[in-house]
Amino acid sequence: MKVFDLDMIKAAYARMPERVEAAKKLLGRPMTLAEKILYSHLWDNLGGKPFERGTDYVDFAPDRVAMQDATAQMALLQFMQAQREKVAVPSTVHCDHLIQAKVGATEDLKIANESNKEVYDFLSSVSNKYGLGFWKPGAGIIHQVVLENYAFPGGMMIGTDSHTPNAGGLGMIAIGVGGADACDVMAGLPWELKMPKLIGVKLTGSLKGWASAKDVILEVAGRLTVKGGTGAIVEYFGTGADKLSATGKGTICNMGAEIGATTSVFGFDKKIAKYLTATGRRNVAIAAGRIKEYLRPDQECIDNPEAYYDQVIEINLSKLEPRINGPFTPDLAWPLSKFAAAVKKNNWPAKLDVGLIGSCTNSSYEDMTRAASIANQAAEKHIKAKAEYTITPGSELVRFTAERDGLLATFDKIGGVVLANACGPCIGQWARHGAEKGERNSIITSFNRNFAKRADGNPNTHAFVASPEIVTAFAIAGDLTFNPAKDTLTNEKGEQVRLDPPLGIELPPLGFDVLDAGYQKPARSGKNVKVKVSPKSDRLQLLAPFTKWEGTDLKGLKLLIKAKGKCTTDHISMAGPWLKFRGHLDNISNNLLIGAVNFANEATNKVKNQLTGEYGEVPAVQRAYKAAGIGSIVVGDENYGEGSSREHAAMEPRHLGVRAILVKSFARIHETNLKKQGMLALTFANPADYDKIKEDDTLDIVGLTTFAPGKSLKVVANHIDGSKDEIVVNHTYNDAQIGWFKAGAALNIIAEQAGK
Ligand code: SF4
Repeated sequence: MKVFDLDMIKAAYARMPERVEAAKKLLGRPMTLAEKILYSHLWDNLGGKPFERGTDYVDFAPDRVAMQDATAQMALLQFMQAQREKVAVPSTVHCDHLIQAKVGATEDLKIANESNKEVYDFLSSVSNKYGLGFWKPGAGIIHQVVLENYAFPGGMMIGTDSHTPNAGGLGMIAIGVGGADACDVMAGLPWELKMPKLIGVKLTGSLKGWASAKDVILEVAGRLTVKGGTGAIVEYFGTGADKLSATGKGTICNMGAEIGATTSVFGFDKKIAKYLTATGRRNVAIAAGRIKEYLRPDQECIDNPEAYYDQVIEINLSKLEPRINGPFTPDLAWPLSKFAAAVKKNNWPAKLDVGLIGSCTNSSYEDMTRAASIANQAAEKHIKAKAEYTITPGSELVRFTAERDGLLATFDKIGGVVLANACGPCIGQWARHGAEKGERNSIITSFNRNFAKRADGNPNTHAFVASPEIVTAFAIAGDLTFNPAKDTLTNEKGEQVRLDPPLGIELPPLGFDVLDAGYQKPARSGKNVKVKVSPKSDRLQLLAPFTKWEGTDLKGLKLLIKAKGKCTTDHISMAGPWLKFRGHLDNISNNLLIGAVNFANEATNKVKNQLTGEYGEVPAVQRAYKAAGIGSIVVGDENYGEGSSREHAAMEPRHLGVRAILVKSFARIHETNLKKQGMLALTFANPADYDKIKEDDTLDIVGLTTFAPGKSLKVVANHIDGSKDEIVVNHTYNDAQIGWFKAGAALNIIAEQAGK
């Protein structure tokens, strides 16, 4: 089954050499791979000077968009408002996040299809109408499906999920974004990114014994920590890189998200060509081979990396020991030989309850075979797994092939339960029996994240992250103080037996196979396709355009809340149980700012309703202002809106009638999201003026009739005692963004243009 767009890839390759050469001339030096891909995807022609890494904001033209089912809902609802006939770039939707793991694949999938029917019907119909590829529930996890079908060396993709960088394993710059960005690119607009810094990781040697590609990124996470990659692309190169399988490279890039990296990438090599060929894309491998010097860093960058990367680290794969990272954070890296001591010293529960392998991070054929080689030894040596053991295949292609080749039967021998090809336990979609008791316990996964409560909602679950083969060995031992590289286990006959190091097969010798991959091709013409949204739905709601600016200054705004301290997108629009309302703006708005701390009473979700003098929940008070036709304003502290690119955090206040967000400083993505939704995003010229805002204030925003780039506005805080403070406020709107404000939202302008 061919689902990728070969013509698009060929066109990208036709452009690339000329663009890279032009950029090289401008830079006057050799180029890293990341730079080659970025400069060949500029929206505009090259300017007169190179972009400064870590400083300049640049418009890019991505080749593809991928969305998972939780984030696709709002992205597509917004896209519909743009009134385009088709998406401007090839795009796909993947149903993976909404499937709960409870019993096993078949039953869980059946329940998900029933409970999420309206969401799936909506995503399927909107994909069909606007030309998006739709991957049904059970088809697989977004990143694995992208790797198997769409990722290509030298390409650029955005995806509405943090682990989109997985595609870097095939040499693609793939970046996780919010739904608003996906909407823009699908509507044919440029996509803005701060030119990333570059971290070079030089790999030498080759992996031995129990060590795997997963251990490379577990080691990198340990060295760089969860914030070490922020604002940077991590580029892997060196002789060691060329020895890693393409899927192993994918695992490494996937978990680059755990160090906060913008993305991670490997250069095109024989391993990537082999994987492309094995997954039905031989012609992509051939096309890439023709321009291979543009799909790898220049040799000077490899020989003298310090001169070309902002930071360089080196790892000798031959000396790399397996790592176990955790608990509660993916950057707490323990070498296998020191892990047992750490478990004892920190008094972590040594008894292992569950080992979970698979997920988008680690469910390649190679991963499955390495884990199965351990499971097989256990069965042959008469050892039963002491812990529960689950397998989450990343896609139906991998699952079907693994079943055909007897790998799933091998897992069955040690009591393994195969879950649906979906996110499941990785994102808290795990109906784990007994989790509600909140008992201290340990689990180990081959997933990527292990923050408290992520897998099963229990804050006392100590989650560790390792490779699938290490997870399998621990599940067999049922004990975290076991070291599979040196310890023995007692089998059913009372004998001491040892597990030999895993043996894996990179690609299936009989080729990949699948009966039904779960793909729905879009209609050739979507004109007559009806998008299915029930007006009675509590999970989906078609969007109405936000209203235009009234053309005057904004007077008489009530202070909704002055948020104190950290106010992330999670404080503004909480996740967890609210996930199911991601496609229903009015319903999800009931979580508006419920996590923010009110400066006046230090409480969360308790603000004064100035109309009644009574305290109420933030969304309820805001709805009261809206019902009375009164606008409001939210005041915040430093770095307001940090965290994620969740557009709901900007859409909800807009929907409920908040007119402006005034803060000491913004997280940039959130600031842009607010601008896109037609909201005023303002900052105190003097941050100390934050203290002048009082709980009972009514505020005016003055100067909007002459709103212009670089020109400050004024906020008048009218206090309840009759006194007032005049506060100078700044903004970063350019002309186009002022246009968004005046039109009511950026999408209103796109829709207007589409209607002309
Ligand atoms: Fe995200 Fe986990 Fe799903 Fe991967 S498996 S896409 S990390 S939730």
